[in-house]
Amino acid sequence: MMLDIVLDKLNGHAKDGKVCRIYISVGDTINADDNICDIESKKGSSTFKSNFSGVIKSIEISEGDTISLGAVIAKIEGEAVGVKEDNKKEDNTSSNKGASSFNYFAGLMKPKKEEISCDIAIVGGGPGGYVAAIEGAMLGANVVLIEKENLGGTCLNRGCIPTKTLVRSAEIYDSLCRADEFGLIAENVSVNMKKIIQRKNNIVEELRNGIQFILEKRNVRIIKGEGKLVKEDSLFVKENNTEITINAKNIILATGSKAMKLPILGADLENVITSNEALDLDKLPKKLIIIGGGIIGMEFAFMYSKLGVDVYVVEYFDSILATLDKDICDEITAIAKDNNIKLYTGCKVEEILKGEDNQSIVVFSKEDTKKYLSADKVLMAVGRAPSIDTAELEKFNIELTANKRAISVNDKMQTSLNNIYAIGDATNIIQLAHVASHQGVVAARNIMGKECSMNYDVVPSAIFTHPEIAVVGVSEKDAEKKGIEIEIGKFPFAANGKAMTYGEKEGFVKIIKDKATGVVIGGAIIGPHATDLIAELALAVKNKLTAEQITETIHAHPTTAEAIHEGALALEGGSLHFVN
Ligand code: NAD
Repeated sequence: MMLDIVLDKLNGHAKDGKVCRIYISVGDTINADDNICDIESKKGSSTFKSNFSGVIKSIEISEGDTISLGAVIAKIEGEAVGVKEDNKKEDNTSSNKGASSFNYFAGLMKPKKEEISCDIAIVGGGPGGYVAAIEGAMLGANVVLIEKENLGGTCLNRGCIPTKTLVRSAEIYDSLCRADEFGLIAENVSVNMKKIIQRKNNIVEELRNGIQFILEKRNVRIIKGEGKLVKEDSLFVKENNTEITINAKNIILATGSKAMKLPILGADLENVITSNEALDLDKLPKKLIIIGGGIIGMEFAFMYSKLGVDVYVVEYFDSILATLDKDICDEITAIAKDNNIKLYTGCKVEEILKGEDNQSIVVFSKEDTKKYLSADKVLMAVGRAPSIDTAELEKFNIELTANKRAISVNDKMQTSLNNIYAIGDATNIIQLAHVASHQGVVAARNIMGKECSMNYDVVPSAIFTHPEIAVVGVSEKDAEKKGIEIEIGKFPFAANGKAMTYGEKEGFVKIIKDKATGVVIGGAIIGPHATDLIAELALAVKNKLTAEQITETIHAHPTTAEAIHEGALALEGGSLHFVN
C-alpha cells in the first residue's frame, strides 16, 4: 500500500520549520522510528521519525525547504505488513518466525554503503560524548557522534534530569500538603502520576532537541546506530539501511553504564525494577521496597515517600549513604525516619520470592536472622556497571582496569592506544555526569593539541534527597585516612533566616579547613539549596581559599548562602548568629 509520510509534529507549538537534513533516499527500506529528517523551527531543532516500515518511493521535500505541519514528506510503499501476512505460513514454519516486515525488505534490498573520514569519532552521545563533540568541533575538528538510542545518555534520558523532574513534583505535592503551615488552603490535592511522567518526558525531549540543535550548529554529524570498532582507526555503524565506515584519526569511547541487578533468585521477577523502569511508573505502588540505600536508592526513597508511598530501604552497610561523613548520615537518617521511610541497615538481601497475592517478598539477613518484607514493587538500586564490550576491547589490545570492568585511561583520558580515548562511566572513575563532561573536554583538548589533564581532587557531588545533600573535596573520613589535621566549622540552617522563611530549617553547613595552612580543603552541606550552594565551597577548595577569605566576603542577606559565611566564621573566632 502506498502511504504518505506526513509532518504531524514539530517542537513546541511551531507550525513550520526548515528542513536541515534528510536521512532517507528513494529506494531505502526503513523501519518505524527510523530518522526521516531534521527540522529546525523557532522552537528548536528536532528529528522527525517514521511511523511506517517499508520502501521509500519518492521524497517530496529538499534540504533548505520550509515546510508546514501537514506537509507530505515522502511516499512509502508500506505493504510490508501485507507481504508478511502472505508469507505467514512460511514464516511460522521457518526459523524466521516472528521476523519483522523490515527484515523481509532488508533481505530484498541491498544496504547502501558510505565511507567517511573525520578527525574525531565519538561513540556514545551522553554528557561525556556530546560535550566532547561540541568541544572538539569548537576547536576546529571535523566530528562524528554515534548514538544508538537518544542523545543525552543516562543523565538526560534515565538519570539526573528525569529523576529531578519527579523529585520536583514530589516537593510541590509535599508543600501543598503543608499548605496550612504557610497560611494557605489547598484542598483535595492529589497525585496524577501519568501527568508527572508526561511532564518528565516533555522536559527530557526539549533538552534532547536542544543538544541536537547545538551539535548541528557546530556541524557535528550525528549518526544513529551502534558503533563497532573494526580497526584501531575505523568504526562501523548501520544507520537505517546505510552501512557506514568511519575512518577516524581519533576515537573517543563514551558508552556509559547500565543499572545492575543483584545476581540473586527472583531478581528478574516482573515487579522487580531498576531506576530505568521506576522513571516510567505511571501508577504509584502502595508499598515499595528499595534494595540499596546509596544515592539512587535514597533519592527514590524520599521522592516516593513524599508522594505517599510506604517506603522500605534495605541496605547492606550499617548506614544509608555510607560513603558520607557520620554527621551527615546521622542527620539524613533521622530525617528519613521522620518522613516514615523505614530503614533496614546492616542487612544483606538474599532472594526475592513471588507471593500468592502477586506481592514480592524480599528475603534478607541481619546478622544470623532471616527477615522478610513484602511489597507490590521492589526497586533495585545496587550500583551501575560500565557498558562496554570487554571482548571487543581486548581484541584491539585496549587495556581494561584491574577488575576488568572498565576501560583503563591515563590523566589525558587516553587508553593504551594513543588515538583512542575513553571518558565517562565507561572508565568507572567517578560515575557522575559532570565528571564525564569534564573528561570529554579534556579528551577533545588533548586530541586538538591543547595539552591538559584530569584532576579529581575537587569534584562536587549532589544528592537530591529532601533536604538535599552536597559534598566537595576532603571529608572528615578522608582527612583521617590521609592523616591531615583539620578544624571544622559548622552552622545550622535552623539559625538561618531564609531557611526559616522556607520552612526548611533542617541540616547544616560544614566547612573543613587544613589546620596547618588555614586553607579550606572540603565541605558538606545538608539542607535547603545544598546542591546549588556547594558551588561556593567547590570554588574555595579548588582555588585554595582560606576560611578567613570566605569570612571577608560579604554574603547577601537574606540567603541560604549566609550559612556558608557563618560556617567560615565558626572557624575563625565564632559565628555571629549561633552560639553552641
Ligand atoms: P551506590 O553504590 O551509591 O549504592 C548502592 C548500594 O546498594 C550500596 O550502599 C550497597 O551497599 C547496597 N547493596 C549492594 N548489594 C546489596 C545487598 N545484597 N543487600 C543490600 N544492599 C546492597 O549505587 P547507586 O545508588 O545505584 O548509584 C550508582 C551510581 O550512580 C553511583 O556511582 C552514584 O554516584 C551515581 N549517581 C549519582 C547521582 C547524583 O549524583 N545525584 C544520582 C544517581 C546516581
